[in-house]
Amino acid sequence: MKNPYRKTKIIFTVGPATQDEDTLERLIHAGVDICRINMAHADHAWSREIIRRVRKVCDRVGRQIAIMMDVKGPEIRTADVPETFELEKGETIDFTYGEGIGSRSEDGIRRVDVNYPGFAQDIKVGETVLVDSGLMRLLVVDIEDQRVRCEVIIPGPLGNRRHINLPGVRVNLPAMTKKDQGDVDVGIEEGIEFFALSFVREPGDLDIFHRYLSDRDSPAQVIAKIEDQQAIRNLDGIIKASDGLMIARGDLGIECPFEDLPLIQSRAIDASIQNTTPVIVATHMLESMIDSPIPTRAEVTDIANAIREEADCVMLSGETTVGKYPVECVETINRIAKRMESEDGPVLREDLVLKLPKSKMLRSAVYLASELEDAGVVVFTRRGLLAQKLSSLRPSVPVYAFTDNHDVFGQLLIMRGIEPFFMEFDNNDPERTIQNAFKALEARNWAKKGASMVVITNVLAGKKIIDTIQLREVE
Ligand code: PEP
Repeated sequence: MKNPYRKTKIIFTVGPATQDEDTLERLIHAGVDICRINMAHADHAWSREIIRRVRKVCDRVGRQIAIMMDVKGPEIRTADVPETFELEKGETIDFTYGEGIGSRSEDGIRRVDVNYPGFAQDIKVGETVLVDSGLMRLLVVDIEDQRVRCEVIIPGPLGNRRHINLPGVRVNLPAMTKKDQGDVDVGIEEGIEFFALSFVREPGDLDIFHRYLSDRDSPAQVIAKIEDQQAIRNLDGIIKASDGLMIARGDLGIECPFEDLPLIQSRAIDASIQNTTPVIVATHMLESMIDSPIPTRAEVTDIANAIREEADCVMLSGETTVGKYPVECVETINRIAKRMESEDGPVLREDLVLKLPKSKMLRSAVYLASELEDAGVVVFTRRGLLAQKLSSLRPSVPVYAFTDNHDVFGQLLIMRGIEPFFMEFDNNDPERTIQNAFKALEARNWAKKGASMVVITNVLAGKKIIDTIQLREVE
C-alpha cells in the first residue's frame, strides 16, 4: 500500500517571518511536524510566547506539532569593536582575551578580544581561525600568553560579536553554558518535547545534558547537533548517547572540507538508522527560497537526496525565520517527498541488524502487511520503542502508531514513516482500543471497512502478557 501520508518529517525554524498566528496556522496545515526555536536569536519572553502560541494554533487547527529548542552550546565569538573595520589581506591582527574593547596592541597591531579564556591555550601556530561563518580566514603565526597573532588570508569586514570556528582544534569549552541552562529551564517549564544541543563533541556532552533534564524530571529528548571534526570522529558514540542526531551542515561545512559533507551526511544517516536513532538533515535546503518563490534545481535534488537516503527529517532555517516564502518552502518539500516516496523500493531495510526476537517480530509484521492489499501496520506503543524500531526498518507500508502518552506522542513526530495518534487506551477491554484505532483511521479515510490491518499489541494469555501480531479486518 502506498503511504497516505508523507513519511519524511519537516522541521521549520520560527522567526519574524512565521511568528504570527495566521502564518503558523498555514504552516501547520501545510504539514510541518516540529517547530524549532533557535536560542541564538531568541530571548526567554519571546520563546515562551511562541511556544504557547504554537500550542494554541495547534488546538485550533486540530493537529499537534512538537517544539524543539535549539540551544547554542559552546561558542567562541569576537567581542564588540569600536566600529566595523576591514581586515586587509596579508595584514596582521591580534586576538586577545580580557583586554576589553580596543583597537591596537602595544606594538600598533590591530586587535580584538574573544569571549573564550582558553583561546590561546587550545590553538597552535599554523592552525586556522575562521571568522563570521568562514567568511574570513586567518592563519595563526604567533602565540604569546593570551595573545594570538594571525595573518589575514581571506579578508573581510569585522563587526561586533562575530562567530569564530577553529577547524580541527579540540576546544575545551563546557558542553552546556550558563546561558544554555537558563534557556533549557524555560523549555522544561513550558513542557517542550525536544532540545537540540549545538556543537556536541563527544558522548559525555549528552550525558551532561540528559542529567540536567533528569534532575529536573523532564522527559524531553536531546538531539545532538554534529558540527565539527571532533563530532565526526566520535560519531558512533554520539549517536548512541543521543535521542536524535542533527547533521548541522552550516557549521559542519565550515569546520570540515565542504567536499566531505555528502559523505559525512550519508554515513551519519546510515549509522543513525542502524542505531534506531532519528536523524535530521539541516541547513541551506531551500536557501534560495528566502527570496524566490521557486527552488533551484540543485536544492530540489539536495532534498530528494536526503529523502532517498531515508533521513527522518529535513529542516528549514532562514527559509522560515526571515524568508519571504515560508509556506511555499513546506509545499515544495511536500511535492518532492511525494514524488520520491512514491518510487517503489524494498519492503524494508534488510541490512538492519535485529538482535531481539521482538524486533524480528516487527519485521515479520511489515512483511505480512506488504503481502496484503491496502494493509498497514497498527502498533500500540506506551514508551515509543516499538514505533521507533518500526521506523528504523524504513518500511514501505504505512505504520499507524497509537499512544496514550502525550510525551511519547510528541516523540513520534520526529520518526520517519510513523503516523502518530494520541488515544486513551481501554485497559479493561483491549479489543475496544483496537476498534477505536480503526475508527480513527476510518475517520481520516486511511482505512475502509473490510481492509486488512496488521496489529501489533500485547495480550493476556492466562496470567502472562505476550506480544502478538494479529491479522485483522477493519469492521
Ligand atoms: C548549522 O550549523 O547547520 C545549524 C543548524 O546550526 P545553527 O543554525 O545553530 O547555526
